[in-house]
Amino acid sequence: MMRFPLAPNATIGIVGGGQLGRMSAMAAARLGYRCHVFTPEPDAPASQVASVTTLADYDDHAALARFADQVDVITFEFENVSAEGLDLLAERRPVRPGPDILRISQDRIAEKSFLNQAGVGTAPWAAVTTPDELRDAIATIGLPAVLKTTRLGYDGKGQALIRTGGEAEMAFVLLNPKPLILEGFIDFACECSVIVARGGDGASTAFDTVENRHRDHILDLTLAPAPFDPELRREAQEMALRVADRLGLIGLMAVEFFVDAAGRLLANEIAPRPHNSGHWTIDACPASQFELHIRAVAGLALPQAIRHSDAVMKNLVGPADIALWPEIVAAPRLIPHHYGKTAAREGRKLGHVTTLFPHGALPGAFGIAAALGPLAGELAGS
Ligand code: AMP
Repeated sequence: MMRFPLAPNATIGIVGGGQLGRMSAMAAARLGYRCHVFTPEPDAPASQVASVTTLADYDDHAALARFADQVDVITFEFENVSAEGLDLLAERRPVRPGPDILRISQDRIAEKSFLNQAGVGTAPWAAVTTPDELRDAIATIGLPAVLKTTRLGYDGKGQALIRTGGEAEMAFVLLNPKPLILEGFIDFACECSVIVARGGDGASTAFDTVENRHRDHILDLTLAPAPFDPELRREAQEMALRVADRLGLIGLMAVEFFVDAAGRLLANEIAPRPHNSGHWTIDACPASQFELHIRAVAGLALPQAIRHSDAVMKNLVGPADIALWPEIVAAPRLIPHHYGKTAAREGRKLGHVTTLFPHGALPGAFGIAAALGPLAGELAGS
């Protein structure tokens, strides 16, 4: 069995074949590692840059076992592997982050309980299994509120805004499986996130807190650092580091927060993997989120998560954005990233661009629009 730190030419197994796996594999290659990707998708973005791919469904236990036997350590870019699949992998090879962390992040009730126990505030919430429990939860939490399925990745259709008692009944019937979770609706001022890396020796480091702006429920822009009070930015980093410690994380994790109208941080979600809101780190930091992910998983020393530049990241989503690719690669201030996907479906993340500014000189909306060049027209409403 391979010992940590992994030696060059060792093989890192990555479960999931999307762009997060692709960019992790690219970082791994620079450190001399090979990657073996497990994905059900032929010609996946990660497979295009990895040395080996196992093409199989996530519930194909024989394929998972064969995959595990061929790698030195296993990590994830896709979280929704079944509990049995995780156990099977963990019996054979070190899984980083560990299965317990994945189980917490896969279940909104376990996640919110964990965050609250770690002293991190969230929206008020209650687990709801019956119509009576929903009525009681609404009486306590108030309206408006958001009713959600507890498991992630449920067709993206797993939540409903409830403004009246009548809407509550309908939402309860439509959302499955039970139990559900009711959360108070946060009229947030903005959304932000922090990415933390933590090694097997307990050393950890957090990237700067960034602001995330969404369009049609998909991340559109990340501003690094978040253009608000530095004290609040530090507080978010401290909370994320505390959560990583309490989880015993080995690997990389993102914590997403709302900033409410009173300027308080309320955690919404944790993701124990590289995160879209950390893509700017490839271009603005000496060691990106992907490099820190691979370093933590391989047992290498973790450098501090520092940035040399301020940055704005914009996602390229769907056919309209990717149609601008010729202009994007010709634009002087855009650093282009293409994920190699051949089908440009509506709502699909196909690439991103980063634009850099001197450290401490992130401009306002006009400066950002100017730097985004051919993509500036898309900023309206963001
Ligand atoms: P989630 O699936 O929990 O990441 O939620 C997706 C998006 O829905 C978030 O980024 C928010 O914009 C919005 N949202 C989720 N939960 C709440 C809430 N409790 N209050 C207000 N907005 C929410």
